[in-house]
Amino acid sequence: MDIIFLGTGSSMGTPAIGCDCPVCTSTDPRNRRSRASILVRAGGRHILIDPGPDMRSQMLREDIRHLDAVLLTHMHADHVNGIDDLRSFNYLQRQVIPCYGDRYTMANVQERFSYCFTPPDPSWSKPSLSGHVLDGPLAWDALRVIPVPVMHGKLPIFAYRLNDVAYLTDLKTLPDSSLDLLRGLEVLILDCLRYREHPTHLNVEEALALAERIGAERTYFTHMTHEIDYDDLNSRLPSGVQLAYDGLRVQL
Ligand SMILES: [Zn+2]
Ligand SMILES: [Zn+2]
Ligand SMILES: [Zn+2]
Repeated sequence: MDIIFLGTGSSMGTPAIGCDCPVCTSTDPRNRRSRASILVRAGGRHILIDPGPDMRSQMLREDIRHLDAVLLTHMHADHVNGIDDLRSFNYLQRQVIPCYGDRYTMANVQERFSYCFTPPDPSWSKPSLSGHVLDGPLAWDALRVIPVPVMHGKLPIFAYRLNDVAYLTDLKTLPDSSLDLLRGLEVLILDCLRYREHPTHLNVEEALALAERIGAERTYFTHMTHEIDYDDLNSRLPSGVQLAYDGLRVQL
């Protein structure tokens, strides 16, 4: 099993349009962050979590040519607005691609992008997805997918556990019942927006505290704004905790 960090940025991406701060003008490629998303490869399957607005360039960059399923964390634009480009995979595979999320996310996405959820046209020239509401675990052979409810401020959304990897983006808090679903993780990927507090995201201090509580073998922070300079923060993190960057691959 391996994970490709397709994007590790917040909703505006880094650099942010019109910003001349040291991170936005940095020459370190790890300070260039497209919108947050990962690809998990397990047992020959390619699972995308969140088709964000940078998905097309991310898939080209990583040379991904096949997609078996899409998991949605929530319906915010920085997590779903690349949905149109899924049609490239429909076209290549001549298949409808299954798309999973919680009830609210699926209703929202199927309304906003209704044309993606109609029967495929004969030339596969538009996105063709089947929508599935997840209300419990899912299994594809040896890969087990567990939705993990978290709170993105007041909005309940899904994080996902895939075997011993968990992807928790866009959250501020989580109930104890979700902490129970995150025991014994090898890899934890966690929201870490910026230094200052935010009403709907973890800041650096909160992300470090939650990482310690969950206690995965390795933790990677993601969904970062231009407040965070890669080298500066990464060099000060405790052992076992690292900042992710676009293109980072993690093997299990
Ligand atoms: Zn987001
Ligand atoms: Zn900036
Ligand atoms: Zn969000």
